[in-house]
Amino acid sequence: MLDLYRPLNILGFAYREIKQALTDLENMFALMDRRPEIEDRPNAVDIADVEGRVTFEDVHFHYDPDREILKGIDFTIEPGQTVAIVGPTGAGKSTLSRILFRFYDIASGTVRIDGQDLQSLTQSSVRRVLGIVPQDTVLFNDTIGYNIGYAKPGATQDEIEQAARDAQVHDFIETLPKGYDTIVGERGLKLSGGEKQRVAIARTLLKNPSILILDEATSALDSATERDIQAALDRIATDRTTLVIAHRLSTIINADQILVMEDGRIRERGTHDELLSQDGLYAHLWTQQEQDA
Ligand code: ATP
Repeated sequence: MLDLYRPLNILGFAYREIKQALTDLENMFALMDRRPEIEDRPNAVDIADVEGRVTFEDVHFHYDPDREILKGIDFTIEPGQTVAIVGPTGAGKSTLSRILFRFYDIASGTVRIDGQDLQSLTQSSVRRVLGIVPQDTVLFNDTIGYNIGYAKPGATQDEIEQAARDAQVHDFIETLPKGYDTIVGERGLKLSGGEKQRVAIARTLLKNPSILILDEATSALDSATERDIQAALDRIATDRTTLVIAHRLSTIINADQILVMEDGRIRERGTHDELLSQDGLYAHLWTQQEQDA
C-alpha cells in the first residue's frame, strides 16, 4: 500500500518544485521582460558573508547595440545605506536593478558587491544575497502562509507570522476565513495590489537578504494603504543596503542619497534638502508632484 502512494508523493514534490520554478520565472520575466543567456564564468566563485557595499563604476549598457541605455553610471551604496533613484520614465532606473541581478552583462565598466566584480561571481550566490520587492508580485495558487514561507525553506509558522507582522499584513490575514491556510492567487482569493505588495515584503523579510531592491509600484494606492506599506518598507530597509527605484518622491525624503537619472545618466545627486537647494531637475520634479498631489 505504502509503495503505491510513493509515486504520488514524488509527483506532489515535483509539482511544488515546478510550481515554484514557474513562479520564480514569472517574477523574473516581470523584472526583465525576456530571458537573457548569461552564463557563469568557468572560474566564478560564490559570494558569502556579504557586508553589502554596492558599486557601479562607469557602467555603460545597451539592450540593442544601436541604442545605449546607461551612459556611464557611477555610484556607491555603503553597507546599510539607502540610495533612491528617481527620474523620468525610460531613464534607465529599472535597468540598474536588472544589472545588479545580472540578468544582463554590461558593455563596459564594473559593478561590484563588497569590492568583488559581479562578473567573477556565481549568479546563484549573488541572487541569494539580493532581495527584491517588485512592482507586481506574482502569487502561487497556494495558501497565503506558503506564499510567504517559500522564501525560506523550513520556515516555522512563528517565523512566517513574525514576517507578516513586520510587513503589516498579519492583521489582514487573520480576518481571512482560513487565516494563513487561505488559498490565494489566480484560482484562489484575489488580493489587492497593496495586499500583494505586503506579502512580497513579508517574503523578503523572511529571506533576509543583505542587499535589497525596492521597485516602487507606479499605481496609486489609497493613503492608508500607502502609509502601512511605507512603514513596512522602512522597517525592511533599516540597517540593510537598499536601492529604491522610486516613483513618488515623498517616499524617499529620508534616503541617504538620491540619484536623479535622465536619459541614461545621473544628472544630480545628494540628499533631498541638498537637491532642493540646487533648484535643478529634482526640485522641478518635486514641485510638479506637489502640484499634482
Ligand atoms: P519607468 O520609470 O517607466 O519604469 P525606467 O527609468 O525604469 O522607466 P527602464 O525600464 O530602465 O526605465 O528602461 C530604460 C530604457 O530601456 C527604456 O527606453 C526602455 O524602452 C528600454 N528597455 C527596457 N527594457 C528593454 C528590453 N528588454 N529591450 C530593449 N529595450 C529595453
